[in-house]
Amino acid sequence: MNYHHIYHAGNFADISKHIILILCLEKLHEKPTSFLAIDTHAGIAKYDLGDEKSLKTNEFIGREIFAKIQDYLPERYLKILAKINRCEMENLIENFNYYCGSPYIIRDYLRRDDRAIFAELNRLEYVQLKKVFAGSDQFSIVSEDGFGLLKSKLPPLQKRALVLIDPAFEKDQSTISADYEKIILALKEGYKRFENGIYLVWHPIIESDEAVLKNFYKEISALKFEKKTHVIFDVGSKDDGKMHACGMFIFNAPWQIEEKLEKIFSRILPILKQSDQAFFSLSS
Ligand code: SAM
Repeated sequence: MNYHHIYHAGNFADISKHIILILCLEKLHEKPTSFLAIDTHAGIAKYDLGDEKSLKTNEFIGREIFAKIQDYLPERYLKILAKINRCEMENLIENFNYYCGSPYIIRDYLRRDDRAIFAELNRLEYVQLKKVFAGSDQFSIVSEDGFGLLKSKLPPLQKRALVLIDPAFEKDQSTISADYEKIILALKEGYKRFENGIYLVWHPIIESDEAVLKNFYKEISALKFEKKTHVIFDVGSKDDGKMHACGMFIFNAPWQIEEKLEKIFSRILPILKQSDQAFFSLSS
């Protein structure tokens, strides 16, 4: 396992993914009933944007660009970022030294009876994640294969659940990442055990993987979930060989998520775009 999310923290893909996550968590808060959140691929939760790994790829969208999009972002997202940077929301840009990972966001939404499980398989990243979070009986941090949690932790006692599946898509020795197949198998388990849960599945979109993605989409469409939404966010190619597009499948998207996403993405894409080929789409 060579993947380290710090190389990519705060890039356009991270930000679009976290906006979707936050909109879903907000919806869960509209009802008092408790929920379980499962983050199958947690990462380290707090990313130092001044770390040499982050500076090396330079993928963070940057403070100036963030300042331009912040008015269109959910307020809670800005509050979480202010919290991780130990500043007031109004002073975020000048203090923007850390970016938040999905466990940091999810933890912020846990009310007294809500619970979360964060899985991180890489031992070193797991240790770092543990350091960010002091122990709590509201969430558990496990160093195990996150895909397995859909079998072992569903259905939830809480009767409501949100599952984020955000793998690294490493290829190892193979030409195709095994994560595509693992996602499908995990979602089948999820459906069998808890068909009404909210499942979010992030994936990269890379030209060279076109055939792989085509097959992945076919397998996704054969899944039995009642409501499937596919979000594509593409900032347009800058011809620098870097990933410029990603997607998120939302199964059982909460009511009106699509409208909210449309509103946010239509405002931030013109600021984040790298070329005129940039677009976003929402399809079901
Ligand atoms: N979800 C995080 C966020 O939004 O901040 C980013 C996660 S990153 C894309 C993927 C993470 O999954 C990496 O930290 C990697 O070490 C970890 N990982 C890889 N395979 C795993 C597995 N089978 N189970 C759990 N974690 C895994």
